[in-house]
Amino acid sequence: MAKLQAIRGMNDILPQQSLSWQYLETVFQQVVRRCGYQEIRFPVLEHTELFKRSIGEVTDIVEKEMYSFDDRNGDNLSLRPEGTAGCVRAADQHGLLYNQQQRLWYAGPMFRHERPQKGRYRQFHQFGVEAFGMAGPDIDAEILQLSASLWQELDLGEYLTLEINNIGSAEDRKRYSIALSEFLQLRVDQLDEDARQRMHTNPLRVLDSKSLQVQEALQGCPQLESFVNDESRQHYQQLQALLGSAGIEFRENPRLVRGLDYYNFCVYEWTTDTLGAQGAVCGGGRYDSLVEMLGGKATLAAGFAIGVERLVLMLESLDKIPAEARQPIDIYLLAVGDNLGQQSLQLAQLLRAHYPQLGIVSHCGGGKYNSQLKRAFNSGARLAVVLERDEPGKELLGNVKIRRLDDSAESETVEITEIIPKLAEFL
Ligand code: AMP
Repeated sequence: MAKLQAIRGMNDILPQQSLSWQYLETVFQQVVRRCGYQEIRFPVLEHTELFKRSIGEVTDIVEKEMYSFDDRNGDNLSLRPEGTAGCVRAADQHGLLYNQQQRLWYAGPMFRHERPQKGRYRQFHQFGVEAFGMAGPDIDAEILQLSASLWQELDLGEYLTLEINNIGSAEDRKRYSIALSEFLQLRVDQLDEDARQRMHTNPLRVLDSKSLQVQEALQGCPQLESFVNDESRQHYQQLQALLGSAGIEFRENPRLVRGLDYYNFCVYEWTTDTLGAQGAVCGGGRYDSLVEMLGGKATLAAGFAIGVERLVLMLESLDKIPAEARQPIDIYLLAVGDNLGQQSLQLAQLLRAHYPQLGIVSHCGGGKYNSQLKRAFNSGARLAVVLERDEPGKELLGNVKIRRLDDSAESETVEITEIIPKLAEFL
């Protein structure tokens, strides 16, 4: 029978790669914890309406990319394409938002039916942070500082650039969209099919078109900057001052609008040129009207989401996963001879009790010394401990051998009662 394959764009993460993921997850959790953010978990499946209302009906995500279906009750549901909407829904539903300040983080899979390529998948993972109840720009600066700390911890700082923009309020953008649309209509011949459609539905998205021809047509177009209100302008200036004093470098990008409708005031993106076409690693901004759009009471809000796969790709290609994080097993315990099962289990537990931070694998399934040793090498362990019975029926008292699993092949045979201190010398 033909073997079934995974769905295109949905990746299996195999044990060796999981080590990189675990390393990244651990560092991320340390960084958010240090800044006082608490985890929130919410379902991968929500009512489609939630994403339509928050992300916006005329966005690529809602129009083309969601995995939506009617369930057995006839409810229209969608796999979450991003985390903010679900996070807001959950926090508001459980009374965490009104008149409160919250610092939350989440992690998990997101789903978008995009064209798969390196760094772009149909199931991908995000880490996100969301802060509620704070007007900013101090909280915006804090969130950006948090992301900068993460890059530093991961030793990726020099490969990432922060781009920021001031996108004003939804009303500002509405006025700007009209002006931009009028401008584009005069140059309709120079636009591609995509831009022609967007010119009417969501003209701001034409700004980040990848087509050179469209970018040429945009020369001299009205600038969003001249449409944004004073409050937003002030917020943006203060944010820049805070970033400057925190030593966080940034570049202003007036074309950065982000694909989701719910942002206001400042938006930002961390990008890299180490990944090829999919260079955005983290994106976010303020979204002060989203809670109300979803039926809650008006709540100030800001946050970002990081693409985990892209960070893993960076960490691996730049060789930034520390050696300790790549070592799942430290000691491989061999048991050569008959009926050593019980003693081998006991010894493994004794070693684990003394070295709880180490990975200790006990050989199962018998076999000759050489074949067990081969497995020990293949396991990636640093040391082998060999339990050997030379006389049938003898108690587990005699000697064990400790052997380095490297080219030195250094080994020493010790009394079993001496194994703990002796191992410490080898480790
Ligand atoms: P967005 O809110 O769309 O900007 O997403 C935030 C981050 O998630 C991006 O900066 C990417 O790093 C990552 N991301 C978004 N879409 C995908 C995808 N289809 N595959 C992998 N990563 C993605």
